[in-house]
Amino acid sequence: NIALSTKAQNVLPSITLSIDAKAKQMKADGINVISFGVGEPDFTTPQNIKDAAIEAIRKGFTTYTPASGLPQLKQAICAKLKTENNLEYKPENIVVSNGAKHSLYNIFQAICNPGDEVIIPVPYWVSYPDMVKMADANPVFVNCTEENEFKIKRDDLLKAITTKTKAIILNSPSNPTGSVYTKSELEEIAKIAIEHNIFIVADEIYEKLTYEGEKHISIASLNNQIKDLTIVVNGMSKGYAMTGWRIGYTASHATIAKAMGNMQSHATSNPNTIAQHASIEGLTGDQSSVEEMRIAFDERRKYMVQRINEIKGLSCITPKGAFYVMMNIKQLIGTTIKGIVINSSMDLSELLLEHANVAVVPGVAFGTDEFIRLSYANSLENIKEGLNRIDSILNS
Ligand code: PLP
Repeated sequence: NIALSTKAQNVLPSITLSIDAKAKQMKADGINVISFGVGEPDFTTPQNIKDAAIEAIRKGFTTYTPASGLPQLKQAICAKLKTENNLEYKPENIVVSNGAKHSLYNIFQAICNPGDEVIIPVPYWVSYPDMVKMADANPVFVNCTEENEFKIKRDDLLKAITTKTKAIILNSPSNPTGSVYTKSELEEIAKIAIEHNIFIVADEIYEKLTYEGEKHISIASLNNQIKDLTIVVNGMSKGYAMTGWRIGYTASHATIAKAMGNMQSHATSNPNTIAQHASIEGLTGDQSSVEEMRIAFDERRKYMVQRINEIKGLSCITPKGAFYVMMNIKQLIGTTIKGIVINSSMDLSELLLEHANVAVVPGVAFGTDEFIRLSYANSLENIKEGLNRIDSILNS
């Protein structure tokens, strides 16, 4: 009898793990699986960033840095936030962590008490609910519809607010929906947050990836009141193709930053020193590779959206950011394909993997069972082949 803590027992394993494990096994068995499941750019890190890491090792930057990050990196982050996001922060407002995921973990540990509520719009990124639970707080889900581009509506947000509401998670551009909030939508949310004194956890990790002239706006930049209530989360993973380097950061009120820095100093100490040096180059060096990657993603996005809408039984709206498409499968629920009754997003995902050798993520992982998430962080060639396979399995 292994006596685990209640907290450990309450954290759910990732729903997508079984599909992922099956896809990996099929690949290992020599089957040509096309994966639409990936949550990371298929590009390698830009050369100037890699060179900066090698240079950091040569120069002997191999020791600890301050636990909350290198002062030079914090300066570079402040300069980035100023020029790109119109946000005025000092190094004391910045905490550099082991990826944006770690930043988010720190935030809930720093602001939540047992029983506090954190509002999470659905569909959500898989880790939010469990991160909130790990801080002894309760996730409160608010459903968002495809008709409203999967964005939270003012009235639904208001209905979810109680005296225990501590924060709202706002992920724009969004994983899994690709939605990007407009300035007026952000203004509405900011007004509510100020009125009710609620924190905004603004996960802006996909900010570099917006399309069709859509521009990412940081909610913290709207006014000083909302800036004080917002914890901006960002990082190097998605925009700079640096998922494996594990550098993320927050910008927040100095009191929150100090609390997070203190906790981090006991939990992990500083994030990898060499990766921090590389991130300085990422933020201050040549930005052209970021734009090249964005253009490649955009081409794939357009193709994927058009092709999905040609397939009988499927549809999707056009995402304006990130690298995901939420594919609507409502028409297929209750139908029988290859002798299998499709009752859920998991059923269809398993069917696609087993009978079409295509790996996807079922919407249930994001809190919605009528969709499947496809990532277009894959070559155009693979995207074409994968969607052809889906078409023929559904319509042969
Ligand atoms: N936030 C969102 C919405 C994400 O999709 C991810 C990665 O999948 C992260 C945060 C975490 O990114 P990282 O920890 O690699 O910086």
